[in-house]
Amino acid sequence: MKILKKHFLVLPYIILLTGIFIFSPVKAQDARFTVVLDAGHGGHDPGAQSSLSKEKDINLSVVLDLGDIIEKNFKDVKVVYTRKTDKYLTLQERADVVNNNHADLFICIHTNASTSPDAYGAETFTLGLAKTRSNLDVAMRENSVILLEENYRTKYKGFDPKSVDSYIMFEFMQDKYIDKSVEFSSIIQKQFVSYCNRTDRGVRQAGFWVLHRSACPSVLVELGFISNQTEERYLTSDKGQKEMATAVFNALSDYKREFEKRSGRQISADKKKEPKSKADDHDQKQHELASDTFKHSGVDTVSKHNKIVNPTNDQKKLIQIPTFKVQLMASKKKIKPGNSQFKGVTNTDYFEDNGLYKFTVGLETDYSKIEKIRKEVIHKFPNAFIVAFIGDKKITVNEALKLNK
Ligand SMILES: [Zn+2]
Repeated sequence: MKILKKHFLVLPYIILLTGIFIFSPVKAQDARFTVVLDAGHGGHDPGAQSSLSKEKDINLSVVLDLGDIIEKNFKDVKVVYTRKTDKYLTLQERADVVNNNHADLFICIHTNASTSPDAYGAETFTLGLAKTRSNLDVAMRENSVILLEENYRTKYKGFDPKSVDSYIMFEFMQDKYIDKSVEFSSIIQKQFVSYCNRTDRGVRQAGFWVLHRSACPSVLVELGFISNQTEERYLTSDKGQKEMATAVFNALSDYKREFEKRSGRQISADKKKEPKSKADDHDQKQHELASDTFKHSGVDTVSKHNKIVNPTNDQKKLIQIPTFKVQLMASKKKIKPGNSQFKGVTNTDYFEDNGLYKFTVGLETDYSKIEKIRKEVIHKFPNAFIVAFIGDKKITVNEALKLNK
């Protein structure tokens, strides 16, 4: 009797486990590249809005256009939508769609808003710690949909989208998809500029819950500002929506090509035995970064620092080496070296970024050396931090360290 009872108890588990193995989705069965498209907000969550339009509608139109273009052009891409109608979904439900479909890429489409009607332009976010208040504000606004859910404190493990403290978790987080996410974001931003003639607000990082919960390279696009009349007109127009969708599609095509190159190599041979192709890849990336430097008339700044006017190939290589500086502070006004605001720190320099002058000290290719300089000034500038560049193009410190390897 005892034994019988035991079997009776175990049996449902066996059935359950068998069920899991049989019915769980298996990636190998659908080898297609899977992209999940997420139109932000929906249903009783309108997102940002103006008197004329709602963010949720713009996001959905662009996502539907984008999905349509992908499906027409790529038979080998599986498109999954988090929503195709005006429907409300929680952030976790959106991330679940990504993970249940074993997605290769996750694209969230949103529309920005600002209290200033003058703010405009497109930006693409990846997951990370927000380095500026404005980046944090975007993440806080987008995460605030969590508050629409009941028991959000329990469900989101105490994460409070409105509390700055909650975002500290993103500082210590390791995101193994960050490089690919940044790579894809950069291509998107380039497309927004070249294909749609949008203003480039750059690739940014902030703590977005939906990206954090998704196990693949993930980006969150802010198409533009609904709070800016001209941009709103563009984003609510059929032409604007189709153009923005096409720009993201073009970026996806580039990214997919790289993805195939990479995965093809993995199949053909052990990666370690192919330093040549890996180096080629690296060179190509370096080349792109360097040509960017020149395209954006960065030669002035480059020549100032590296004394190069007409770079030879060797010199170009030199420019491609990432450099580090310590950022002391930022200001709307240019401050002359030697000013008392620098508290006796000499040899300061500056660069312009997001409409601000950012003042720096030091110029090193060696991270340990710049870290030493940071330590020397930290008692005077407690918030001083390290910034990295390729030529005059600002990159993240992580990217720079990777390139240095
Ligand atoms: Zn949004």
